[in-house]
Formats: sequence, structure tokens, C-alpha cells
Amino acid sequence: MTRTVYVNGEYLPETEAKVSIFDRGFLMADGVYEVTTVLDGKLIDFDGHAKRLARSLNELEMKHPVTEEELLAIHRKLVEVNEVEEGLVYLQVTRGAADRDFAYPKDAEPTLVLFTQKKQAVNSPAAKTGISVISLPDIRWGRRDIKTVQLLYPSMGKMAAKAQGADDAWLVEDGFVTEGTSNNAYIVKDGVIITRNLGNEILHGITRAAVLRFAAEAQIKIEERPFTIEEAKAADEAFVTSATTFVLPVTKIDGEAVGTGQVGPIAARLREIYLEESRKTAI
Ligand code: PLP
Repeated sequence: MTRTVYVNGEYLPETEAKVSIFDRGFLMADGVYEVTTVLDGKLIDFDGHAKRLARSLNELEMKHPVTEEELLAIHRKLVEVNEVEEGLVYLQVTRGAADRDFAYPKDAEPTLVLFTQKKQAVNSPAAKTGISVISLPDIRWGRRDIKTVQLLYPSMGKMAAKAQGADDAWLVEDGFVTEGTSNNAYIVKDGVIITRNLGNEILHGITRAAVLRFAAEAQIKIEERPFTIEEAKAADEAFVTSATTFVLPVTKIDGEAVGTGQVGPIAARLREIYLEESRKTAI
């Protein structure tokens, strides 16, 4: 089935959608994005994604292409016309097309592109077995709190993991884990959830915020602080969170089993709570 996608005010078949070769997203990675999960044909955490998008745009002094209400309407229309029951909506805003120059163009209009992808997310085999991660140096730029389309290093990280027979990588800076290549990282020790505190060093995950809220409601203790790979290897459990994978247990770090090497009870419980609660508030 040919998808219908959205480009700058138009709904088009994917084969007819076009963006200029002068677009600064293409030339300079001068763009930001969001990925919103769809379950039961509804959007999970739309409000959080819209707010983070607005923040990313503001931090980069980029124009907002449409209002939050218009953004919601576009998301809903794409989900409807493409008959997405389970999957995601990808959204990208760039500074727009202009002659190539390092200085921001004064009169360029932002480019707005959205498309859907159908994908099984709830019944993921990895949720039952857990995933394995390797550790890699975090050599990304210093504003990881802005969700830019500069994804080459995360991509290289995933390839390095794959080459070592692992599923993903955790990134390490100054001796401490920042986050996963495309997710936030957590460990559990003696019933306490430990995860990196917010700052410019990590993306402020929308799923992270929701999961920590649900954990607090379930009376689980939380420590927001940096932790090392050594501490993670000695933990009882580990897991990652992201919009498309929810809560995913990590059972191996650099080839060593975490805890029993099986999916831990807290990660399993948080995944269940997250799915249940997110479905209730999906729009
Ligand atoms: N950290 C990074 C680097 C990411 O790329 C992502 C998601 O793409 C996340 C964390 C998780 O964020 P969210 O829960 O908003 O999907």
C-alpha cells in the first residue's frame, strides 16, 4: 500500500512527496524530529512530544511551522488514512531551503514532514528475553537535550553493537553512562531505580518522564544520578526506555549477565504499567 505522507501543508502519496536539495536538514542536519507511538490507532504521549518539539525549535531559534493543534490534526489524519493500528508517526522540522551558508537564512520557511510506519511494538520478542548492550565512548555533541537529526554516531553505535553480536550500545562519558544510542538507560539495585539526571548530556525522554512518574506512584524509589558501567554490571536489573520500545529489559552488558541474566521483575512490571497507563491516556 502506498502511504500518504505530509509535506508542507499537503497530503501526498509517498512517491510524490519532495523536499528541496537546498533543504538545510539535508545539507547541514539543521533539523529536529519527534517519534510518537501509535497503539490501538491512538497517539501515546502526544502532548509530551509536542512540548519537546517546541523546546527543540526554541533552543535552535527555528520557526514553529504550525500550531500544536494543527500538529495533532496532521498526526490523526495520517494515522487514519494509513490505517495505522500499531506503529509510529515520524515528524521532522528543518530550518528550510536556502543557498548553502553557515549563517541561518533570514527568510527561509521551515520544512515540515510527517509519515507513518506500521510496526509491532507491544509483542516484541526482546521484551521477553531482554537485550544485550555494549559500552562505547559518547562522542556526540554537547546538546543532546535537543532532538536533532544528527544521528550518524547513534547509527554507528548500533552497527558496532551488531558487529559484536549485541543489540545496542550504552554511551559513556567521563566514566559515566549517559544514555543508550536511542533510549534512556536505567539500572536497579536493591529495589531502587537509578538513571542519569536530566541535563544537556541526555535527551529528556518522554517515556522516561512517564515511567519515572509511574514508578513513583508504585512506591518504587528513584535516584536520578550518573552511574558507571561497573555499577551497571553489578546491578540486579537494567533496562532502557523509548517511545517505540516502551520499557525494554537489558540482560547483558559487555558480555556479562546483569543480575540473574533474566528479565527482572521491576522492568517487567514497569513495562506492564507503562503500556496499561499509556493506553488509557492515548488520544
Ligand atoms: N535518548 C536518545 C538519544 C533517543 O534518541 C531517544 C529516542 O529516540 C530517547 C533517549 C528516548 O526518548 P523518548 O522516550 O522520548 O522516545
